[in-house]
Amino acid sequence: MKNKILKILDASQDYISGEDISDKCGISRTAIWKHINTLKEEGYQIDSQPRVGYKLLKRPDALLDIEILTGLDTIKWGKEELYTFEEIDSTNIYAKKLASTGKPEGTVVVAEEQTLGKGRLGRKWESPRGKGIWLSFILRPPILPAQAPKITFVVAVGMVRALKKALNIEAKIKWPNDILINKKKVCGILTEISAEIERINYIVVGIGVNAQQNIEDFPPEFRDKATSLKIASSQKVSRVKILQCILEEMEYTYNFYLNKGFAGIINLWREYSITLGEEIKVITHEEEIFGTAIDVADDCCLLVKDESGRIHKIIAGDVSLRKANGEYA
Ligand code: ADP
Repeated sequence: MKNKILKILDASQDYISGEDISDKCGISRTAIWKHINTLKEEGYQIDSQPRVGYKLLKRPDALLDIEILTGLDTIKWGKEELYTFEEIDSTNIYAKKLASTGKPEGTVVVAEEQTLGKGRLGRKWESPRGKGIWLSFILRPPILPAQAPKITFVVAVGMVRALKKALNIEAKIKWPNDILINKKKVCGILTEISAEIERINYIVVGIGVNAQQNIEDFPPEFRDKATSLKIASSQKVSRVKILQCILEEMEYTYNFYLNKGFAGIINLWREYSITLGEEIKVITHEEEIFGTAIDVADDCCLLVKDESGRIHKIIAGDVSLRKANGEYA
């Protein structure tokens, strides 16, 4: 009912009386008044004039179902199953629960705040309220578990495309799972998989995008390595619009991968990469390697050539780029 009232307000150019809304909805004027108050609490600016009626002045940039769905141009993603939360432990944890009960591909979970947001290897992902886009989605790709790292590449490519579409920003991919703007992290991707030996049950992809933070909103130790879309574009951004672009580009890129294969994706990944061609340091669980990142292999491993000319194939590790002053960051 609340959504119906919102649609009526949205469609009306001018003030519309409580009586008209009540006729259209078939509920009492008092009930309308209550719903309007709820909408105001959610951040909708609605002016009410005695004997004249109500007028919608401004929609909030809040990650509410109706806001996300209004104008969302996907085929399936977010449209069939969308779960939004004010606060959640972690959107990935919730999406994994949904996936294990059989929810379909394209199911989306979004929260205004995560209290237990995670990066790789259980590292904390800061997800303050209202400042970012903290989302997860379920995938069920018909591929072997060994191919799963390709999904992180698909998502990273989708993310770069989404930021280009939403804000005309040229973001870069840092192997394996970070999206950077001006060499600072704006977005992290966490891919989690549930699989048997020969079959993937599901993949849950978590994406955390810093959107509205000012630099002082980041913990001091992040300030030289993190950024937000607001900082990068010097303007307040619409989280709803960015989320819509993410879902649209993600669905497109994922379907492109399923239908056309990985070659096109990996080529785009190379184009968007900040890692390739750079002098880097890689810390793996076994060793520390210094060298030049020369390419990524078809299985998503990073190929690093060290000083002696030996090529190391990195399956997993932490990469830092050599800066002009010789330090690695
Ligand atoms: P990395 O691959 O860079 O280690 P992860 O994907 O593991 O990154 O993400 C976790 C790390 O990212 C944390 O240890 C922290 O350094 C950093 N981090 C946490 N929250 C944020 C955030 N909101 N924005 C940018 N960086 C963050």
